[in-house]
Amino acid sequence: MKIIMLGAPGAGKGTQAKKIAEKYGIPHISTGDIFRANIKNGTELGRKAKEFMKQGLLVPDELTCDLVVDRISQPDTSKGYILDGFPRTIPQAEALTDALLERGEKIDYAIDVEVPDENIIRRMSGRRACLACGNTYHVENNAPKVEGICDACGEKLTLREDDKPETVKKRLSVYHAQTQPLIDYYRAAGALVEVDGTLDIEVLFNDITKILGA
Ligand code: ADP
Ligand code: ADP
Ligand code: ZN
Repeated sequence: MKIIMLGAPGAGKGTQAKKIAEKYGIPHISTGDIFRANIKNGTELGRKAKEFMKQGLLVPDELTCDLVVDRISQPDTSKGYILDGFPRTIPQAEALTDALLERGEKIDYAIDVEVPDENIIRRMSGRRACLACGNTYHVENNAPKVEGICDACGEKLTLREDDKPETVKKRLSVYHAQTQPLIDYYRAAGALVEVDGTLDIEVLFNDITKILGA
């Protein structure tokens, strides 16, 4: 099963993607997590990506597409995968479609998690992220068991630099200009599923699993 997650920054893509990956036994591939790991490790890619990320801009397609095409060619993707945060532009979607077509494959589901912009800013200021394992929490909606500590791996949680309100506003405008057109792209491809991201995390997950099947 090959799935992509669509939706605004903070819509809850990562939260649902982790749960789907666990339930269906497929890898969760987050380009944001990959870039943040590269920044943490001080790689060349990390240095380049950081310049764009801290401004709320997208990392250029040239730095993103090959990375993902390579990742989905790894042996652990034989049963499928869930892409979270990629594609984010029409050229990225086209690169993915072409790479899959060469192998006679396609995306089965593009899950669009819909949340109005007004809710996003509030959500992001309460988001706390684990840079070690990629889990995210919310100080009110989805609090960790111990304040400031990741349930999954015990690392300290942080407020991401790009989750500050000014940067979130920029990311939302980038989302509307560059990523939202993917909804029509995947609708035309017959893969689009729209879900209500304002629902409670577990209620939404239950809706998604009904769509994906047991
Ligand atoms: P969110 O889902 O909260 O928007 P992500 O962790 O997916 O956050 O992405 C954080 C940042 O990483 C983005 O704002 C962007 O700068 C960069 N990024 C992640 N994925 C991509 C992508 N597919 N193309 C370009 N930039 C990306
Ligand atoms: P994305 O990957 O789309 O950027 P996240 O999964 O990181 O979004 O979620 C953004 C923030 O909203 C996090 O703090 C998360 O705990 C919280 N969150 C996720 N899903 C929901 C939901 N259905 N209702 C309320 N808060 C949520
Ligand atoms: Zn963690």
